[in-house]
Amino acid sequence: MPPCLAVGNWKMNTGVAEAVALASSIRNGLESPAPRGVETVICPPFISLAPVMDAISGSPIKLGAQNAYSRPSGAFTGEISPQMLADFCQYVILGHSERRHVMGEDEGLIAEKTVAAVAAGLQPILCVGETLEERQRGDAGAVTRRQIRTALAGVPTAGGLVIAYEPVWAIGTGVPATPAAVVDITAGAIREELADRYGETASSQVPVLYGGSVNPQNVADFLREPSIQGALVGGASLNAGQFIQIVRLTAEIKGPA
Ligand code: PEP
Repeated sequence: MPPCLAVGNWKMNTGVAEAVALASSIRNGLESPAPRGVETVICPPFISLAPVMDAISGSPIKLGAQNAYSRPSGAFTGEISPQMLADFCQYVILGHSERRHVMGEDEGLIAEKTVAAVAAGLQPILCVGETLEERQRGDAGAVTRRQIRTALAGVPTAGGLVIAYEPVWAIGTGVPATPAAVVDITAGAIREELADRYGETASSQVPVLYGGSVNPQNVADFLREPSIQGALVGGASLNAGQFIQIVRLTAEIKGPA
């Protein structure tokens, strides 16, 4: 079975003090009893990575970055390299819909970033998913497959990869996709593309998460599906109580019996 994850994407929210307080609340809330069988990952803004690393030190909580550039160093003003992040983080979110659609990142750049992240020893949480227009055209599966194929073209092995299926129309809208619509993609297009690329055995170990308006009330509906190994959570991860509930539900539903 692939590992299960609950990932909090804080986006461009929280100053340093607030980030440390949120991380500490999550840490305290998960201390006893410690949830089993779920990897908890929090992704604060870059400037809070170091203080949050201190705040969660000695706990099982892992740190992720929300983005990284494709080059190790150089004249790239404003960018952060995966090598720099590797001192703090185990994971990095790449290809998030806000990077694709708000910042204009194209699939070629996301592919370069994915290769660079793996080379630096980070585990990419590769986000894929269709827009509403693409869904309405009946292209959700084809778009998702293409995004995976392009992003992973230079990544020779599946070890360490995490895929997050995040239909763009479900992110931050308060309207999640239905579990049936998600399973159609997670069990179909995503697994098929991974299996074509890496073979059945290796690809079956890649966790596939759902993201898009996940909260403690709806997360169980997704976690009960065998093709979904956890959640990538935006808004609800800024509330320690809600995120803790999501982590605990993930452990209850996906963890050891
Ligand atoms: C996200 O940021 O990846 C996300 C899914 O956001 P939200 O949970 O707020 O929809």
